[in-house]
Amino acid sequence: MSNNETLFQRAQITTPGGVNSPVRAFRSVGGTPRFIKKAQGAYFWDADDKRYIDYIGSWGPAILGHAHPEVISAVQQAASLGLSFGAPTEAEILMAEEICKLVPSIEQVRLVSSGTEATMSALRLARGATKRDKIIKFEGCYHGHADSLLVKAGSGLLTFGNPTSSGVPNDFTKHTLVLDYNDCTQLENAFKELGDQIACVIVEPVAGNMNLIKASDAFLQTMRRLCTEYGSILIFDEVMCGFRVALGGAQSIYNITPDLTALGKVIGGGLPVAAFGGKAEIMAHLAPLGGVYQAGTLSGNPVAVAAGLTTLKLIQAPDFYTNLTNQTQKLVGGLNAVAKELNIDFCADAIGGMFGIYFCKDVPNSFKQVMQADANKFKQFFHEMLELGIYLAPSAFEAGFVSAQHTNSVIETTISAARIALQKLTCK
Ligand code: PMP
Repeated sequence: MSNNETLFQRAQITTPGGVNSPVRAFRSVGGTPRFIKKAQGAYFWDADDKRYIDYIGSWGPAILGHAHPEVISAVQQAASLGLSFGAPTEAEILMAEEICKLVPSIEQVRLVSSGTEATMSALRLARGATKRDKIIKFEGCYHGHADSLLVKAGSGLLTFGNPTSSGVPNDFTKHTLVLDYNDCTQLENAFKELGDQIACVIVEPVAGNMNLIKASDAFLQTMRRLCTEYGSILIFDEVMCGFRVALGGAQSIYNITPDLTALGKVIGGGLPVAAFGGKAEIMAHLAPLGGVYQAGTLSGNPVAVAAGLTTLKLIQAPDFYTNLTNQTQKLVGGLNAVAKELNIDFCADAIGGMFGIYFCKDVPNSFKQVMQADANKFKQFFHEMLELGIYLAPSAFEAGFVSAQHTNSVIETTISAARIALQKLTCK
């Protein structure tokens, strides 16, 4: 038995499913999850000392590549001064100032420890500020696992073909309206019918939890216009795409100003930091100023903030996003060329350092289209690639991530492996 297999068996005794977050269990692709021992740059190593080129980057945070020396040293320095105080620190001010500078729609921000907390708190704030209950979300978008957002959500749930989680009372979700992503007409109709009851619309402006799906300009513009017209709050969930598709997030690409933004992943550089922020007049509803309660023992944790601040500094290097985008484009361009050469129904798409691969002819732009892709082929491809030392997201419904350490040779190795893997698919 391999070390990975031994560890997986052992893990299942004391941990449900052997993992601390469902998609890690490889349920949708089958086989044994790899237990990771260490990571460096574009690579990580499993318990059997096999090296992989890593395309999940901790599901987004590892944008600089793993174990960047400056981040590690900032963490060590912060840790040596104490791990947590439960009282404010100057570093939290610096972090807030940096976020407000980089994302101008954010006038004030509060730090939390996970994306789930960020979206859950933004939602409560929107409801508190508008004194309305109803919210709109879109099928296939995942916003963490807060009760009222677990309605036909994507990510692990999609993978399991499970439209909603059990354990969530209908009473909690009856205010959540779920519409189709990229469908302007539905949005117009929903507002026409219920506009003055809608507290907020929450959206991934670049969706990464039903594979990668880009919003159309019209979709986001319609949303912005309707929210303004009806006094509803527009929340961009940029936990995944923030600081990933561009320095100013998806909102800088689409040139749309949301009222609130949720951030996570990259802003913690691999440690638990997330945030939500936006218009100061909305943020003023939060405790201790206002009546919307939100708190966290480890919020703004000094070690996590040190990792986040250093990451935010390093991603501001000149051409950082141009290079990241170029490398990601080289990857998807190479994959598309191989698929064309082999005449396979496969395509790839990207934005910034985020990409999607799809076993269908054309890049999907809706949840329904993404569901029509060949999940079986993806499964075979995933395992062939894994064997060849390329670690892709273990689900056909997740985006992939490229880091600043994915050099030309790393990308070329990946494309060569994909050629072998796709060729094997055509022979089966
Ligand atoms: N929102 C989005 C868009 C996400 O991608 C995720 C996590 N994948 C979350 C929220 C939840 O973040 P976390 O896992 O840190 O709770």
